[in-house]
Amino acid sequence: MSAEILDGKAIAAALRGRVKEVVAARTAAGEEAPGLATVLVGDDPASHVYVGSKRRACGEAGIRSIHHELAADVSEAELVALVAELDRDSGVDGILVQMPLPDHIDQDVVLAEISAGKDVDGLTPANAGQLAQGRIGVREALDLDTREPVTGLIPCTPAGVVEIRDRSGVELAGAEAVVVGRSILVGRPMASLLVNADATVTVCHSRTRDLAAVCRGADILIAAVGRPEMVQGDWIKPGATVIDVGMNRTDAGLVGDVDFDPAAAVAGRITPVPGGVGPMTIAMLLANTVRAARAAISR
Ligand code: NDP
Repeated sequence: MSAEILDGKAIAAALRGRVKEVVAARTAAGEEAPGLATVLVGDDPASHVYVGSKRRACGEAGIRSIHHELAADVSEAELVALVAELDRDSGVDGILVQMPLPDHIDQDVVLAEISAGKDVDGLTPANAGQLAQGRIGVREALDLDTREPVTGLIPCTPAGVVEIRDRSGVELAGAEAVVVGRSILVGRPMASLLVNADATVTVCHSRTRDLAAVCRGADILIAAVGRPEMVQGDWIKPGATVIDVGMNRTDAGLVGDVDFDPAAAVAGRITPVPGGVGPMTIAMLLANTVRAARAAISR
């Protein structure tokens, strides 16, 4: 293996430490601690694990966690009513509805109840629009000290990817970046963040012709597909930076979307799974919650 391992766990720990300091300073000054509401629907084991990790991280950072669990057969109307109530609640600064939702519930109908200022997942059209129009970037997302109203909240996973890349010293301006995946949670906001950072960006998806050839052109390759070890070592340009967003539970344990060992033999830098992007997602969620506590976008 020749690639440098990009340690998302360490970068995330540093960010979580900073969030904790900011929260402690504010509460010492008499402000209420920021509050994050999490809503979990159904019995998906992975979703339970993710929400559990997010709530624990809140506790460690001094952020209040307000948690609601609903049965898989809850009606769309009941879920919408709960989210609307959380949105009105001044004790709730951020709202996270864990995805995916059961098939009978329309995600967009639920997200429509969340004000942009409480949308710590950055999924509402207002926040996605701010990002797509280049009005918000990771620097703003990490500015926890601002007393100004925030202008937008960006999705945690792509923001975490940019932060890992930043700390690794890889230049984005002018780089060829390839994003595999175009979901609203990861691929699309990822592409916007990269464009905003002056990379030349190609977005791939299930209809892309000759994915391997496109990936081989990437100075920075971001895999967000949800297919275990799909990206092969010979798809990687020698020396490239490879960021693996994938989290796939297999019989062999948790694996990414990149076939790690062959990829690490060719890449210049690579994130591991686990210990790469996953911890950054949680750290960025805490940062977004602290910023949401200052938000005045639609409140
Ligand atoms: P989605 O299923 O919403 O999107 C997957 C994307 O991959 C789609 O755009 C799809 O294309 C594309 N795709 C699927 N198959 C192929 C293929 N054979 N070739 C090229 N593209 C393909 O997933 P998410 O974006 O939500 O998540 C992606 C991965 O990231 C998952 O493993 C997920 O668990 C992980 N994840 C990790 C997080 C973390 O914190 N580390 C947070 C969030 C997600 P099309 O649009 O054409 O269908």
